[in-house]
Amino acid sequence: MTASGASWVAGARSADGEGKSEGFGLANLPMGAWSGEGRGARLGVRIGDSILDLHRCVESGVLARLDRRIQDALAKSVLNDYLGLGHAAWAAARAELQRLLGESCGELRDAAIAKDALLPAWGITMRLPCDIGDYTDFYASIHHATNVGSMFRPTNPLMPNWKHLPVGYHGRASTVVASGAAVRRPMGQTVQADDGPPSLTPCRLLDYELELGAIVGGQANEIGQRVGVVEAAQRIFGHVLLNDWSARDLQKWEYQPLGPFTAKNFITSISPWVVMAEALAPYRVPMPARVEGDPQPLEYLRWDGDFLLDVRLEVAISSAPMRERGVPAMVVSRSRGTDLWWSMNQMLAHHTVSGCRMRPGDLLGSGTISGAGEDERGCLLELTWRGTKPITLPDGTERKFLQDGDEVILRGFAVRDGLPKLSFGECRGIVLPVA
Ligand code: MN
Repeated sequence: MTASGASWVAGARSADGEGKSEGFGLANLPMGAWSGEGRGARLGVRIGDSILDLHRCVESGVLARLDRRIQDALAKSVLNDYLGLGHAAWAAARAELQRLLGESCGELRDAAIAKDALLPAWGITMRLPCDIGDYTDFYASIHHATNVGSMFRPTNPLMPNWKHLPVGYHGRASTVVASGAAVRRPMGQTVQADDGPPSLTPCRLLDYELELGAIVGGQANEIGQRVGVVEAAQRIFGHVLLNDWSARDLQKWEYQPLGPFTAKNFITSISPWVVMAEALAPYRVPMPARVEGDPQPLEYLRWDGDFLLDVRLEVAISSAPMRERGVPAMVVSRSRGTDLWWSMNQMLAHHTVSGCRMRPGDLLGSGTISGAGEDERGCLLELTWRGTKPITLPDGTERKFLQDGDEVILRGFAVRDGLPKLSFGECRGIVLPVA
């Protein structure tokens, strides 16, 4: 990166980025897939107020310094081929993009192609960054697990396995969508009275879950081959915000003994810009030491260099009447990537301890990230304590769970003293009534 961290692109002339582009400076350069302005699905890089069309860059020879196979992968419509190239290729492409977009470089800025390769970031449609082959969601925040556990098992909130392994379930890749896609309230089996019979009803207790996602890359491991915790760090390409929309009434009736099923398979939203693990490296925080009485993880989950990411997260909600009146969404809670008990590296290592194959484009979710405070709870189940402490929106209405027309917005910034902010952008979804 150039010494100042500044770019010649509008909205990124300071290292932090400006205005609507805060956090999209030269230090970030997240990648994603998009279409629009008469151009079919393709990859791009967000820089300041603009999106750099990677297909156009490859076509015109702007990226000719890169290996042919990297150029070919960047000319595709999804990230999967690029993800498969592995971390050395990712680092090479990132360094070249930082050089071309840095303020001291005129190569792209002064080229005839520049106007055509850089488009305003607002006029286009962001898509899923990759074809997601498999999706697994974890449960790695101790505050979330303790809060939810204590609602159902007051004397024994954490199950005996919780501090020994990152608990997870296999989610549904076919219903992972990009931010902005509508969230249709699901139907499902619910039980009104504790011992009553089930009936098929619209979900009444619809919830969001504030999570970080990890996009897996690198060469797929063979079936039977484990990925160690150190190697796992090199197999994570980058991170997104993830909303694991959840139907709590469906979940309560169906979750035992095999875990969530229809309560979580109807939709999962992710933010479209993948913030590269390499960009996030300076925002790593060493794993907190286990306190006395807590078990040390087994050897395969242990790494002195292991880390969490200092990403400041928030959830905001707006009702349809609020949006009609131009009232901004209300931030209802804040938490941090450092509130996790297990790292993404440990999640990936544990995922493969049985020899499970992980392919480029697989998605991991951290689980709801909650902090210790009452205003740091990452879902409504916790925030309203099962609906016993409703929150009040600026339009005067109360929420125990989500209503039709509500929009949920997740936001995130990587933050560290003396370093530019890195934005994750937003992950949005508006709840629609049952079809
Ligand atoms: Mn979840």
